[in-house]
Amino acid sequence: MKPSHSQPRSKREPGQDPRPQGAPGTGSLVLVATPIGNLGDITARAVEGLKSADVIACEDSRVTAKLLAAAGIEKPLLPYHDHNAEAMRPKLLARIAAGARVALVSDAGTPLISDPGYKLVQAAVAAGLPVTMLPGPSAPIMALALSGLPSDRFLFGGFLPAKSKARRDAIAEAARAPVTLIFFESAPRLLDSLQDLLAVLGDRKAAVARELTKLFEEVRRESLSALIAHYAQVGAPKGEIVIVVGPPAEERASAEDVDTLLRRALASMSVKDAAATVAAATGAPKRTVYARALELQEEK
Ligand code: SAM
Repeated sequence: MKPSHSQPRSKREPGQDPRPQGAPGTGSLVLVATPIGNLGDITARAVEGLKSADVIACEDSRVTAKLLAAAGIEKPLLPYHDHNAEAMRPKLLARIAAGARVALVSDAGTPLISDPGYKLVQAAVAAGLPVTMLPGPSAPIMALALSGLPSDRFLFGGFLPAKSKARRDAIAEAARAPVTLIFFESAPRLLDSLQDLLAVLGDRKAAVARELTKLFEEVRRESLSALIAHYAQVGAPKGEIVIVVGPPAEERASAEDVDTLLRRALASMSVKDAAATVAAATGAPKRTVYARALELQEEK
């Protein structure tokens, strides 16, 4: 017997939509995840969803055209990216309201994850239009799963800023949460970022996940200092990268650890920021760390 739409979600067949689509008045926005390197990772539901879309909104039509060609799909493409989103959004919403099924893809992976789409979803929801998703690959989730680091609680920090001061600030802000941290980074900046992570967080366990799902997929799982030593020796790697950093160690940091971290942090931060960062990274009481930061600053 074919499952009906009223059955629980677990009973849906692969490729089956959660609700009827395409008829007038039943337009929808469908977020479609696509592979992050290996075309074989496209899901059966993604193929069906793209085939049944009236139009596909995409970041770069050349990239999406290649994916569609590989999957044997021909569909009109509409560019939707940071530079035209303001102008395109009302047009896409109007088409959905008129009954069109609009699929949104990014160049790779899950739309909205450091990719365009959030404001489109927000506007569709505000307009009462149906929004659904055909989920699939995402680099930060794959990197977390392969990192061997705690995956029960994590913070995804997106792309780290290019400049060191802003980068250290972003790391310090993320470090307020005592959980596993995930960042995107480009290959040429990997070493600088690892050094800033060490300076702000201390020598935590980490992983560098590179070229996931591709021919040269690699995950290096070491301490931050060991990763720095490795990349300082071999040079910048090639390809796409996710950095995963484990949470602070369970045991309380010793006074010696706090001093080492404070000295590193004071090299680039104010006493207040250095104390807040080291307190967050070690779990040591803020007032004690601040008092010690003042002493070390005076010793300089
Ligand atoms: N939305 C995408 C996702 O869900 O995976 C992420 C898009 S973001 C613009 C691109 C960044 O994701 C890259 O610079 C890299 O840091 C990371 N990334 C994407 N594909 C990757 C891969 N195959 N291996 C490692 N990192 C990847």
